[in-house]
Amino acid sequence: MLQSKRAELEGMDLAFAEARAAGARGEVPVGAVVVRDGTILASAGNRTLELRDPTAHAEMLALRRACEEIGSERLIGCDLYVTLEPCPMCAAAISFARIRRLYFGASDPKGGAVENGVRLYASPTCHHAPDVYGGIGESEAADLLRGFFKSRR
Ligand SMILES: [Zn+2]
Repeated sequence: MLQSKRAELEGMDLAFAEARAAGARGEVPVGAVVVRDGTILASAGNRTLELRDPTAHAEMLALRRACEEIGSERLIGCDLYVTLEPCPMCAAAISFARIRRLYFGASDPKGGAVENGVRLYASPTCHHAPDVYGGIGESEAADLLRGFFKSRR
């Protein structure tokens, strides 16, 4: 139990580091990490501006890298840590990848699709729903975003 608690915190810490790095690049500060058996398979921050790719959200990039890493389109037994509640696109990708557990920081009433909006995992057309643990490091995640959007105005 203690062991898994520690892995949880490490995954989230790295996701926050990726989020801060994304913010420093001028991207929306969101970071994501894929972990399996206590090992980090992939980590990424948003790169939509840099890659000129509307799908280059942190979760999408981390899922792609993790799939490359293990040579499969399914991430069985893998957990995903992300600093913000995933959007509809990422929530669907997390389902397709068969992610076991989803840990996220701040909930996102405007763009989220897990607790907010379409609540994808509660939909009857969703064939795999991860176990969801929200509100991990929530205040740090919310501060990051607030700081970012304040500096834009
Ligand atoms: Zn997304």
